Amino acid sequence: MNTIEQFNEYVMPTYGRFDLVMEKGENRCAVDENGREYVDFGSGIGVNSLGFCDESWVNAVCDQAHKLQHTSNYYYTKVQADFAQKLCGITGYRKMFFGNSGAEANECAIKLARKYSFDKYGKGRSIIITLKNSFHGRTIATLSATGQDVFHNYFFPFVGDFVNVNANDTDGLVSALDEYKDKVCAVMFECIQGEGGVIPLDAEFVRAIAEECKKRDILTICDEVQTGVGRTGKFLACEHYGIRPDVVTLAKGLAGGMPIGVCLANEKCCDVLGAGTHGSTFGGNPISCAGGNAVLDRISSEGFLDEVTKKAVYFREKLSDIPQIDGVDGIGLMLGIRLKNAKSSEVCKACLDEGLLALTAKEKLRFLPPLTITYDEIDRGINILKKVLNNNV
Ligand SMILES: *Cc1c(COP(=O)(O)O)cnc(C)c1O
Repeated sequence: MNTIEQFNEYVMPTYGRFDLVMEKGENRCAVDENGREYVDFGSGIGVNSLGFCDESWVNAVCDQAHKLQHTSNYYYTKVQADFAQKLCGITGYRKMFFGNSGAEANECAIKLARKYSFDKYGKGRSIIITLKNSFHGRTIATLSATGQDVFHNYFFPFVGDFVNVNANDTDGLVSALDEYKDKVCAVMFECIQGEGGVIPLDAEFVRAIAEECKKRDILTICDEVQTGVGRTGKFLACEHYGIRPDVVTLAKGLAGGMPIGVCLANEKCCDVLGAGTHGSTFGGNPISCAGGNAVLDRISSEGFLDEVTKKAVYFREKLSDIPQIDGVDGIGLMLGIRLKNAKSSEVCKACLDEGLLALTAKEKLRFLPPLTITYDEIDRGINILKKVLNNNV
């Protein structure tokens, strides 16, 4: 039995996988079990923010594994405290909760919003408004929050009191807030819808969310699981929009490949979840935190995010020179590429065959390269893409 047969024999078939067995990686280059190399334009799905096995990250993770791999959350650890202080320092948020994934970070945000409202107003303000075409995770509650009908099958009943409005429709938002007057505790959104197709929200709409929520004492929850941690050239994508949501969730790129998910809260709501109201056995795993510290140190180092922005400009220029490309959406190194004639899934597969790891998001080709990618590696990947598009179209 080869690896793929062995895997499929014992693992539930929840993913449509490519026939590729990954063995190792170094910086922005992955190697499969046959020794074939791939330029990485995916970082997993925006996870390996420092690339594969970055030296300072590996050292941090290995040192921690030698020291203490886990302890229960009934005790304190320095590595967690350091991580939390760093993250709050960088983001300006007051406190955070530790989970292990994006969905868990969002679960925390949902619970926090409902309890904030319950503590202040009692029962009845349980509705959370989310956007059509959003994606917030795979647990029952975060699936319920996700504003795409394709996700609302089979697993009935879903969690109630999620109301969807169209993205960029301020009138629609306001009429939902009026219709459900005194029943809404939060509005939750991604600044750039990731899985929905790399679609940035309009600036006016994002500002309207912030203003309308403030008037009504409704919390704003920004799901930055994909957009956060420097992906867009700022630490948080909401910085591009000039808003400060009450709650921000982070996960994917936050610990450079170790599982982590956090929910950040501002002064107004950072003490809502008291002892016994929320928890996670693995939350704040010390090895994840050590990896996270390496990521935060790098991203907050002098000039790092400026360099992300510069590389993103270069990347976009290169893409816009390709005749088969209609346009590029997204901000910074979160790139959604509109193809003129080719199907994104076919291009993605063809890129893989030619040695380039790419992603798709709906009908677009999606690139989430490691933040440490070099100009030379951008060129190498782009050349592969050009070759594929020349063959395909
Ligand atoms: C990936 C993603 C999630 C879910 O994260 P998991 O770690 O898979 O649970 C939630 N929200 C957004 C915006 C995402 O991109």
